[in-house]
Amino acid sequence: MESGLPIDAHVHPYQVHRDARGPEEFAKAAFTRGLPGLVFTEHAPLWYHEPRLHFLSEPELERCIEDCMETKRRWLGKLDIRIGIEADWHPRNADFVAGLLARHPEIECATGSIHLHGPHWAEERDGLDGEECTTLALRETLATVKSGLFSRINHIDFFRIQLQRMGCEYHPERHEEDFREIFVEMVKRGTALEWNASGFRRDFAEALPCDSVWRWSLDYDLSRTYGSDAHKPEDVGAFIGRFK
Ligand SMILES: [Zn+2]
Ligand SMILES: [Zn+2]
Repeated sequence: MESGLPIDAHVHPYQVHRDARGPEEFAKAAFTRGLPGLVFTEHAPLWYHEPRLHFLSEPELERCIEDCMETKRRWLGKLDIRIGIEADWHPRNADFVAGLLARHPEIECATGSIHLHGPHWAEERDGLDGEECTTLALRETLATVKSGLFSRINHIDFFRIQLQRMGCEYHPERHEEDFREIFVEMVKRGTALEWNASGFRRDFAEALPCDSVWRWSLDYDLSRTYGSDAHKPEDVGAFIGRFK
């Protein structure tokens, strides 16, 4: 805490190794960098088996939670460690996530994400242009908040990676009202907004949300978190100096 740095509230300790080494290496990295703590937020499984992306299976997630809890105990008094998940919002995933959380009461922090570029959105994306994709993503983000499943919305405009893949530009200014509607709902429900550093590792080299969306969010009384979205220990705490 003395460093004045925030907790890194979004890290993936099971991506390099699918075993206990991950959480331990991440904790060591956080401690070395002077961070006060971590929230382990590994990718939760989807309602169907998706082997192509980062998602864990449920047995893998169970082992991951156990390993994270072991690391939490080991670093007690030195790091504030919480057990969380990054779960995907998709209308067809909502009941699955609710069941997952009921089966795993040790999860302290359920965070919600939309990964619009993933194969699970292929049907909904089909035939849409960039503006329609943005509208879809923001409509579903509002649904994510309204589901009441999540304490935080991760990387709120990460759908821009899908726009980039389609060769479309990202125009947040055309969707200011949609963002503001989401923020109003988040305030109502006490849902936190994440500042996610992973965008700096992308071609667009900006935080998620981008500066203009973050600026609009400042009009609302939201709680905010910093997240490196590290998939490897060397990225823990990345770009933390740019988070204000
Ligand atoms: Zn994500
Ligand atoms: Zn993530």
